[in-house]
Amino acid sequence: MAKDEVLECSFCGRKKPETDLLIAGLDAHICDKCIEQAHGIVLEELAQGGSSSLSSELILKKPKEIKDFIDQYMIGQDQAKRVMSVAVYNHYKRLLQPESKDKDEVVEIEKSNIVIVGDTGTGKTLIARTIAKMLNVPFCIVDATVLTEAGYVGEDVETILTRLLQAADYDVDKAERGIVFIDEIDKIARKGGDNPSITRDVSGEGVQQALLKLLEGSVVNVPPKGGRKHPDQKFIEVNTKDILFIAGGAFSGIDKIIGKRLNRQAVGYSASIKEDRVDETNMLQYIIPSDLKAFGLIPEIIGRLPVLTHMDPLDAGTLRSILTEPKNSIIKQYEKLFEMDGIKFSINEKALNYIVDKAIEYKLGARGLRSLCEAILTDAMFEMPGSEDDKLKITKEYAEDKINKSTLKRLKAAS
Ligand code: ADP
Repeated sequence: MAKDEVLECSFCGRKKPETDLLIAGLDAHICDKCIEQAHGIVLEELAQGGSSSLSSELILKKPKEIKDFIDQYMIGQDQAKRVMSVAVYNHYKRLLQPESKDKDEVVEIEKSNIVIVGDTGTGKTLIARTIAKMLNVPFCIVDATVLTEAGYVGEDVETILTRLLQAADYDVDKAERGIVFIDEIDKIARKGGDNPSITRDVSGEGVQQALLKLLEGSVVNVPPKGGRKHPDQKFIEVNTKDILFIAGGAFSGIDKIIGKRLNRQAVGYSASIKEDRVDETNMLQYIIPSDLKAFGLIPEIIGRLPVLTHMDPLDAGTLRSILTEPKNSIIKQYEKLFEMDGIKFSINEKALNYIVDKAIEYKLGARGLRSLCEAILTDAMFEMPGSEDDKLKITKEYAEDKINKSTLKRLKAAS
């Protein structure tokens, strides 16, 4: 026992009783506090060293090539694909701009952060993820609803960058040119739209304010492991000036705001709108930044998300194509899964149309296609591997047999 009392950490000199844990090495000891500190240093060193030059790693394609790439994975949404291909191209062109010696000569190209408005399941995340895959840059998704102003319960906005650092394996250089997808940006809108006097809604507006400095480009102290900031935590400095932020949201009800504005314009000034028939099945195509303001985003946020685009609603034809056409379509994935067990999988046209019909009837969207397929195929995926059966043909009758009303209700509730 007497021997234990003299043991101490060889790094900080703390005696064993002053530590929670003292680990013995060959001829030295280290305490829990020093391990934690050393871990922070390792993360920081790793983050600083070993990063490669931007131009050698970033694969920058022309806008048309970017769109061609997205086309392989995504059906329709032509307008969003075009707008985003240009925005992404300009954003990374700006990064690759050679540094000019004469600072006065430099034309400062501004960031082209993007906001996508579209119903849930219409492919907002998919398009952002696909672009990041093509560019070979780190990518993360964060949910705006978990963010709070500093000092409130929830996550500080800086933890957005923790996720990006993690996606970049703590390579700060890489993270600094990554893409962040902020989902559900509409959920931090000011309640009561652009009339702040109706209710005082601190949280939504506060988070928007906190997000500003990230979006516009500044050096931010990021807690490497996330969580709330606390005084003796080590931070990693991340400059957000070259990070591309893509914000997405359903902005439920914004179609009415757009409709009202169009009506007003038609009555007031613009004869052309009166003449051009408004397509009421897809109001989002007419969206302009002031509609976001009317919904409750503050003007400063809108200013820092200068590229605005929308997703079209998914009609039956699009849903049908989503099932089979993309490079890694749902049906191709099942074919592959069965093939790995030596099973030849096929599904006929009527069964595919049945799946699409149910997705529409129960408003399950594109995400529902997968859950419907899963419900139809689970029994076969359980029973067939290892059995004599080496063929599976899905017909409409087979699909109907596997999906009853309660399955559909359950899928609806989960969507
Ligand atoms: P959102 O972010 O708009 O809620 P997601 O991007 O998560 O929607 O889309 C949900 C799923 O639906 C995706 O995983 C994808 O498989 C599918 N999907 C949605 N839209 C399309 C599309 N246009 N083309 C191909 N797949 C799509």
